[in-house]
Amino acid sequence: SLGAAWAVDWLRRSADVVAANRVALSELDRAIGDGDHGENLDRGYQAIVEKLDAETPATPAAAFKLAAMTLMSKVGGAAGPLYGTAFLRMATATGEAATLDAAALAGALAAARDGVVARGKAEVGDKTMIDAWTPAVEAATAAAAGPSASAGSVLAAAAAAAEAGAESTDPLIAHKGRASYLGERAIGHRDPGAASSALILRAAAEAAG
Ligand code: ADP
Ligand code: MG
Ligand code: MG
Repeated sequence: SLGAAWAVDWLRRSADVVAANRVALSELDRAIGDGDHGENLDRGYQAIVEKLDAETPATPAAAFKLAAMTLMSKVGGAAGPLYGTAFLRMATATGEAATLDAAALAGALAAARDGVVARGKAEVGDKTMIDAWTPAVEAATAAAAGPSASAGSVLAAAAAAAEAGAESTDPLIAHKGRASYLGERAIGHRDPGAASSALILRAAAEAAG
């Protein structure tokens, strides 16, 4: 199972991958939105890293709460409150636990997804980050119920499903967010929030080793 060190490593790896993909994520958003998704997220994750350099969270939930507060205050736009809610729900779901096993991780991801849905009201197929998160939760839940369940296998399953889910947004028309103003002109472009969600969930798996 995985503890606070994993959660901190996840956030730091996320910051690295978001920085490396800052321009690419904003280019996706330029095609079907306002072109700021990479900058928005990068600003938030750099602020998270600054906080982690100053304080060390004692539990996964403390790390998630630090991330939630920072993303909500620094990211802005649609993605800030949505990602902030995701991390806040993970903090609530994991509570005081020092370490998270396969079932706890799958439960935390489900809580995160449910929070994004509660806040943004998107369904699968609306061409949003939910198209990455929902298959990730389904794969994580299945992996956690399997005979060889481990924390790492749950996160690896979630990451792979999120990547496929992000790809699945390419042919869709958007029904939420700025991209919904474009109608059929959104077809052929990947949703930036689904793409960033896949990167962040891959970072979670990599942090688990
Ligand atoms: P903004 O659109 O305000 O500039 P960002 O560019 O940072 O915000 O984020 C855009 C992303 O937010 C979209 O690609 C989409 O994945 C996600 N998004 C927007 N609205 C919703 C919603 N209602 N539910 C879920 N995700 C959403
Ligand atoms: Mg944008
Ligand atoms: Mg914007």
